[in-house]
Amino acid sequence: MLTLQTPIESFLRVGKTTAKRLQKLGLRTAEDLLFYFPFRYEDWSKITPIGSLNYNTAATCRGRVEIIKNTRSFFRKKNITEALVSDNTGSVKVVWFNQPYLAKILKAGEEIYLSGKIELDRFGMHFTSPSYEKVQKDTTHTARIVPIYSATENLTNKQIRFLVKTAVPLADKISDWLPGEIRKDFRLAGLGQAIKQAHFPDSKTRFFEARRRLKFDELFLIQLNNLLLKNKLQKSRAPILKFAEKETKQFLETLSFKLTDGQRKAAWEIIQDIGKNQPMNRLLEGDVGSGKTIVAAIAALNTFLNGHRTVFMAPTEILAKQHYENIRKLFANSEIKVGLLTRTDRAMSNRKNGDNIKIDPKEITSAADLVIGTHALIQEKIKFNNLGLAIVDEQHRFGVNQRKNLKGRGEKYPHFLSMTATPIPRTMSLVFFGDLDLSVIRELPAGRKKIVTRFVSSENRERAYDFIRKQAESGRQVFVICPLIDPSDKLGVKSVTEEHKKLSKEIFPDLRVGILHGRMEARDKVAVMKDFSENKINILVSTSVVEVGVDIPNATIMMVEGAERFGLAQLHQFRGRVGRSVFQSYCFLFSDSENEETAKRLGVLVQCSDGFALAEKDLEFRGPGEIWGTRQSGIPDLKVAALTDYEIIKETKVAAENLIKKDPEFSAYPDLQEKLRKFTAEVHLE
Ligand code: ADP
Ligand code: MG
Repeated sequence: MLTLQTPIESFLRVGKTTAKRLQKLGLRTAEDLLFYFPFRYEDWSKITPIGSLNYNTAATCRGRVEIIKNTRSFFRKKNITEALVSDNTGSVKVVWFNQPYLAKILKAGEEIYLSGKIELDRFGMHFTSPSYEKVQKDTTHTARIVPIYSATENLTNKQIRFLVKTAVPLADKISDWLPGEIRKDFRLAGLGQAIKQAHFPDSKTRFFEARRRLKFDELFLIQLNNLLLKNKLQKSRAPILKFAEKETKQFLETLSFKLTDGQRKAAWEIIQDIGKNQPMNRLLEGDVGSGKTIVAAIAALNTFLNGHRTVFMAPTEILAKQHYENIRKLFANSEIKVGLLTRTDRAMSNRKNGDNIKIDPKEITSAADLVIGTHALIQEKIKFNNLGLAIVDEQHRFGVNQRKNLKGRGEKYPHFLSMTATPIPRTMSLVFFGDLDLSVIRELPAGRKKIVTRFVSSENRERAYDFIRKQAESGRQVFVICPLIDPSDKLGVKSVTEEHKKLSKEIFPDLRVGILHGRMEARDKVAVMKDFSENKINILVSTSVVEVGVDIPNATIMMVEGAERFGLAQLHQFRGRVGRSVFQSYCFLFSDSENEETAKRLGVLVQCSDGFALAEKDLEFRGPGEIWGTRQSGIPDLKVAALTDYEIIKETKVAAENLIKKDPEFSAYPDLQEKLRKFTAEVHLE
């Protein structure tokens, strides 16, 4: 007797080797199989009379085996099984390669289904290696909508299909954890039914019902989790930071520019939030160069004026250092002491004039009012006294653990502000950022020039180099991005070391060409960036480490090698490294790829300079996992649902909100509690 817990090994026809292979796919029990959903389907349900078969098509037919025999091809030494199958409209030849056992399985006189391609060659029209199955009431591999599973090399779809089929009757034993009224309100199929139909749909209608239910489940759990996180944070306490209007205005007057409307609105939303005694949990989203740093500085200023400390975290030491240099200048006329704290760098600015002063590194966290460092700051559990505001740059959100580390025992939580230049499409934010409040800066400061973006084909490479030389000779600087650090024969993709050699020795021997990549020592990286920012380096060959935030206003050319290897959002980030001054800037995309899709994708970047539009496009081209990288941002890939399931996304949001209002502890729904517990343990959606 099979149960949900039965190990797959004890299934009929499953040996040790197969079991091992299944384990690699995470499949151990019958229940695992039930939740191993197909990633696509092939509709073989329509039966075509043999007499109406056409070559160069795919079809299913039902017929009787007239003859079946094995032969051996003379030239290619292949085993060939040939059969003739007929129904009352005609006969068709069938050919299989290297499956001699078929002649034993399928016997003359038997009725079978065949699903597959029909081809024409000099021997006439025939089925080529079709799926086959003896005629029976309930088929698995033919004459139906057939599920296609993602299988590893050593497992065939046929094997997996067979195993799933064996397990499918157990679907009725799975308890349906979704509250009955939600199922009713949203007219959802039962879970057991949905699982069965998702594997072996009886019809297209059943198929859509099943998929809708499974998508609903997946999205509903995410929404519920979002709301729970949000509620939990709202129940905790943070210091009230009152708006210091006069001082903020004075500070803004020291700037050489006026805030854009977007900056002003974002700053206002933040000021409202930190004035409450619940921790802010806000994501500030704004394209590269939209001026997020100044908005963060306004928040830090107000935190300071309320007698609290701010910690400001950047993804790399280079960026931390750069923020430190910029921000201490911003606050040079204020009372704020700005500190820098990274693994290799400890510094603090003087109150009053913003100069660096000497300080014992241990004291920075208690002496500086605004401590700037890397994300590692909080991993190290450095204690910040009296923390009022935590800012994290170029990250989508604070994780649960980061939050815990920032809160001293018994102390209040600080307010949380994360900032990102990766625009988040609307559906994306509905699903994955439901626990966050969003501020968006949509415009760039006035007067920015459009960056000229060009796709450069290999015959124009020399001309591009000439152009680069002219720019360098007129004092401008150049980034060259390569996908790899070291050369790789296999991929044939440009590497930093190789390009650096070529550019410094052959192409621009008279210019200063620098190199930067992630494997260099932190202090070497900082030194290179310092040289580059002081214009001691003309051309910097780098990996994507320069992707986020680096600010070199004098750089006017961004040249990307192997551009096809990067996503649009990422390329847009690269492009944002130039065009930060009055000089006209350029972005050159190089690619040897002849893929049409690639050309289309890069073409979008050439046409479009709006980061938001690009993110939507990227989502279309590559899906969310690729852009927002699971690990980096805590975003899991959706298994069944897609971000285009806008209706279901909205429905699940409503359903989750209603349920939490009605029964915040889910006390009436033990199955749901259990499901949610498993879900949070698995995905760490923070
Ligand atoms: P990002 O949003 O990419 O982090 P930054 O905060 O680094 O952008 O700002 C980019 C540049 O724009 C900085 O040199 C900054 O001083 C400048 N800047 C910010 N706001 C404005 C504004 N309203 N008008 C003009 N320049 C601005
Ligand atoms: Mg920035």
